[in-house]
Amino acid sequence: MTFVDEHPGCGDESQLQFVSRAFERLGLRDDQRELLLSSFRETQVSIPVKVRTADGESLRTFTGFRVQHNHARGPFKGGLRYHPSVCLGEVRALAQLMTWKTALVDIPFGGAKGGINVDPKSLSLDELEMLSKRFMQKMTPVLGVHEDVMAPDVGTDPQTMAWLMEAYSKAHGYTPGVVTGKPVELGGSPGRLEATGLGVAFVTRVAVESLGWAMKTLKIALQGFGNVGYHAAHALAAMGARIVAVSDSSGGVYAEQGLDIAAAGRYRAHAGTLAGLPGAEPLSNAELLALPCDVLIPAALGHAIDTHNAARVGARLIVEGANMPLTHLADAALRERGVPVVPDIIANAGGVLTSYYEWVQNLQQFPWERGTVLRRLEKRLVRTFHEVRDVSEHHQIDLRTAAYVLAIQRVARALTLRGL
Ligand code: NAD
Repeated sequence: MTFVDEHPGCGDESQLQFVSRAFERLGLRDDQRELLLSSFRETQVSIPVKVRTADGESLRTFTGFRVQHNHARGPFKGGLRYHPSVCLGEVRALAQLMTWKTALVDIPFGGAKGGINVDPKSLSLDELEMLSKRFMQKMTPVLGVHEDVMAPDVGTDPQTMAWLMEAYSKAHGYTPGVVTGKPVELGGSPGRLEATGLGVAFVTRVAVESLGWAMKTLKIALQGFGNVGYHAAHALAAMGARIVAVSDSSGGVYAEQGLDIAAAGRYRAHAGTLAGLPGAEPLSNAELLALPCDVLIPAALGHAIDTHNAARVGARLIVEGANMPLTHLADAALRERGVPVVPDIIANAGGVLTSYYEWVQNLQQFPWERGTVLRRLEKRLVRTFHEVRDVSEHHQIDLRTAAYVLAIQRVARALTLRGL
């Protein structure tokens, strides 16, 4: 079974390879594999938006996707990404990843993903609002509180979710639970904004403890200083680790004694770049990946570590903050070198877990306090890490394959019970 994609270079062979390793381990039949790999529904829409240009105004038509992979265990759930490279193959692979992620952390959701091939920085706020609301109007028939619930991802944020909720509520009446990651004033959950990064930090802590390392002795490098990277770095520094390097798309910065993450965040917000951060040396993204350190957290886009740079990775442990930051060949090369990898489906699952808590609060119209949300988040992630580690040790397999085995088993069981 291969992903067929009309956009060259846009499918995801790595995802298929990771899943196949778990299929082998589980001894699943070909017909079961085919069902588990198939999308339930793939929807593509055109979204025309009037944009301002140097000569006045023109019409641009964007393409939007929503891939709903599997809903055996509950409504489809997954983010919406705005990025120029968005294509059907990538959205399809990310939708499938969400199915395994929701199953692994054992919440009653399936998996989906959406995307629009747009550079959000090229549009004004008004144009982004129009784009988001038109996308929601066109997707409304396949979405719903008990059908499919969207959330922020790369290039989208709580404001985007507020526009989507407004567009859906226009047609169906006030429906906060149709999206998560909303502003707190509109039914968003306290803690949701920082939840993915915080979750990465919780998982990193339990992973390093299981290796017998102490947080306070650790040197950590992070690629990506957006929502996930910034909050992970901030939380890890608060836990006592030394964040020696961070980077974004414009390059990175390094400080042997450790960076002040809050100050770096303020500097980046003001200057629009990390370059020139006082007290830090410049560092390229390639140098960051090769930096000798204890933990490397790729928290930017997919496939940051591939066959070209995997051999140069200088860290002793990798924690995947981003979705699919390692290609399967890079993953194999690191396995060969004995560098453990904590996979994305557990490391960055804090976002979808807190989205679930937000959805529950919306259904009950009963908001929780931030402390309650974060305590539940940490407890569930630590429990999941232990479950994955136990499977890995029991079967002598890597953490990623163990995580997929657990997740796929749960989805396969749900399909069997439902008689699908
Ligand atoms: P974001 O848009 O807030 O941040 C992305 C960061 O990556 C930015 O700092 C950007 O400058 C940087 N970046 C982009 N290209 C880069 C490059 N070539 N080299 C170095 N840095 C680069 O996005 P985010 O929400 O932080 O998401 C990051 C990753 O985490 C994505 O893979 C996303 O799918 C995944 N993720 C996000 C969430 C969430 O709740 N936001 C949840 C689960 C997974």
